[in-house]
Amino acid sequence: MKINENYLKLPGSYLFSQIAEKVNAFQEEHREARIIRLGIGDVTLPLAPSIVKALHQAVEEMGQGSTFHGYAPDLGYGFLREAIAREDYEKRGCQIRADEIFISDGAKCDCGNIQELFAEDARIAVCDPVYPVYVDSNVMAGRTGQYDPASGTWSNVIYLPCTRENGFIPALPEETPDLIYLCNPSNPTGTTLTREQLKLWVDYANTHQAVILYDAAYEAYISDPDVPHSIYEVEGARTCAIEFRSFSKNAGFTGVRLGFTVVPDSLTFQGASLHHMWARRHGTKYNGAPYIQQRAGLAVYSEEGKREVAEQVAYYMRNARVIYQGLREAGFEAAGGVNSPYVWLHTKELTSWEFFDRLLACAHVVGTPGSGFGPSGEHYFRLTGFGTYENTVEAVERIKKASGQLLGTE
Ligand code: PLP
Repeated sequence: MKINENYLKLPGSYLFSQIAEKVNAFQEEHREARIIRLGIGDVTLPLAPSIVKALHQAVEEMGQGSTFHGYAPDLGYGFLREAIAREDYEKRGCQIRADEIFISDGAKCDCGNIQELFAEDARIAVCDPVYPVYVDSNVMAGRTGQYDPASGTWSNVIYLPCTRENGFIPALPEETPDLIYLCNPSNPTGTTLTREQLKLWVDYANTHQAVILYDAAYEAYISDPDVPHSIYEVEGARTCAIEFRSFSKNAGFTGVRLGFTVVPDSLTFQGASLHHMWARRHGTKYNGAPYIQQRAGLAVYSEEGKREVAEQVAYYMRNARVIYQGLREAGFEAAGGVNSPYVWLHTKELTSWEFFDRLLACAHVVGTPGSGFGPSGEHYFRLTGFGTYENTVEAVERIKKASGQLLGTE
């Protein structure tokens, strides 16, 4: 027996376990400290009432012989696919049919699994910094070379730096990739591409026969009318883009698990349809998202549901604004926080981890070191709007008080 040695290439310690270790050690030494966690990428508000009601109803149905549901259809129930097609696509002027929407248990799995459709020697391009799943899932599949700990990069991966120098807008690559991962709004920078900026990528992908893997997990946080909620708002996307969506961040489903992927039937390469390939993959390796979850997903699109989840998004965005404005007032350079719950601050001469340690020591606030998201994340730091409002306000006050030490001006 031989193992898949690609797994051994992955560097050991995972970012969030490293953070937890440091925080626990600090709390151990400073038992009186009330630590505030603004590093979280998880939602904290409970599920909205209309969603809880739908869950209860679906559980009741499962307990009656006449309404019991066994295996769900592999690709999702029609009631949910149709609601998504209507509410997320038709209403935004996108031409996406219900049968092009594949329901799943979340965007992470789909982002990780999609690479199976592509050749082993396909070249990937990723924004840097970015959600680590895109690179790591390709490492596991053997699509990358070796990891260089000194530079924090993998060979055979095209990095698209997104930094303050380019306004966090990735430039088109010199070397042509086969697969281009775009996350809009971006985790971790919280910045966005406008419709016009995205059009450049769509045209590029169509010209070069590349596929864009577009992660729109945070689309519900967009308020700027120039930023698209879906890549299919951009002309030409139907022939080059796959889109990932999640119910996690718009409706608090991180613990419920529900998402979907759009694979238009116009995506044809070498005479093969990616739509059929993905359907085949679902049919073979996935037995469908549970009925109960899909009923809860449908409730997100009810009038009541829409209003309730919009209130939750507004709550997190108020926090993000408090963080963003507070940081700016304290003299930090910060991005994000407008169309995203993430605020991305520059740590000046401190490394991301040095800033982490100093923030914990001086303000008892926890965030996420930017270097954990890719080499261009070094000297940046992520704070999120997913905490409570009260904690967020207090954390920002503490950061303001400690700003001299944090910015190195004291
Ligand atoms: N995509 C991005 C960019 C994310 O940040 C996350 C979660 O943090 C996900 C996808 C995962 O979404 P899900 O909970 O649907 O798996």
